[in-house]
Amino acid sequence: MPIEAEIRVKEVIHRTYNVKSFRLEAGEQLEFKAGQFLLAGFKDAPELKRYLSISSSPTEKGFIEFTKKITNSEFSCRLNSLKPSDLLIVKYPMGKFTLEDNPAKKVAFLSGGIGITPIRSICKYVVDKNFGIDLDLVYANRTIKDIVFRDDFEIMQKQCPKLKVHHVLCESSPGFSCKVGLINALMIKTEIPDYLERKFFLCGPPAMVDQMCKILLEELLVVKENIVMESFQGY
Ligand SMILES: Cc1cc2nc3c(=O)[nH]c(=O)nc-3n(C[C@H](O)[C@H](O)[C@H](O)COP(=O)(O)OP(=O)(O)OC[C@H]3O[C@@H](n4cnc5c(N)ncnc54)[C@H](O)[C@@H]3O)c2cc1C
Repeated sequence: MPIEAEIRVKEVIHRTYNVKSFRLEAGEQLEFKAGQFLLAGFKDAPELKRYLSISSSPTEKGFIEFTKKITNSEFSCRLNSLKPSDLLIVKYPMGKFTLEDNPAKKVAFLSGGIGITPIRSICKYVVDKNFGIDLDLVYANRTIKDIVFRDDFEIMQKQCPKLKVHHVLCESSPGFSCKVGLINALMIKTEIPDYLERKFFLCGPPAMVDQMCKILLEELLVVKENIVMESFQGY
């Protein structure tokens, strides 16, 4: 059952020009599964609340982190002005975009932009726990500047050879290894040749998730039992 608590901001981290992570103070009692989400809001404005995936892993102790694309909305502006020791009302944990709810030995993640947040949590958890699960991530962004957690994934790949990250950008970037274009059936086949043996986790804006699901089902004949989805309603 989710619980609601007032929690202090511990640290704010700039991830990209328009994405920030917010780390909240958390004792040992704060339990969640990698890939779950929370509902964050402000005590003095109960209507201002948003669902946000937890981007940290249960193996990272002393804090719980969510990561938000900062838009012009009132919620984003309030969030953007938060400082350490400010308070948020947080309801957590929620969601079944987890390996516990969808066990697999071989996983493929398809993600776009800010949709990387629960996937970062799951990958960090699998790498830290040394579960030996085979992880392939296809991560699409407009430009190199939009890639969230780029350094994190580079470190994780060095720690865990079973984690492979395939970047996809709308335009090429000198010296950066990536595919150019949109994620499509051919790209998935080429980057993940054993795709029929994998459980797919899709996360991003609803239009992207729906499109990816259609490609998997109709063009690549992946069975729907092997597709797990999290749509970021609101984008
Ligand atoms: C399970 C889940 C996990 C998410 N995780 C993240 C995350 O990790 N990082 C992140 O940046 N965003 C995440 N989102 C999206 C987030 O909840 C916001 O919807 C999004 O950030 C836009 O909010 P905004 O205040 O920036 O923009 P706004 O301009 O307020 O929102 C854009 C429009 O979407 C509407 N809207 C907002 N939330 C919803 C909703 N839940 N359902 C339908 N319409 C809505 C608003 O009313 C507005 O019309 C997640 C959403 C869901 C459902």
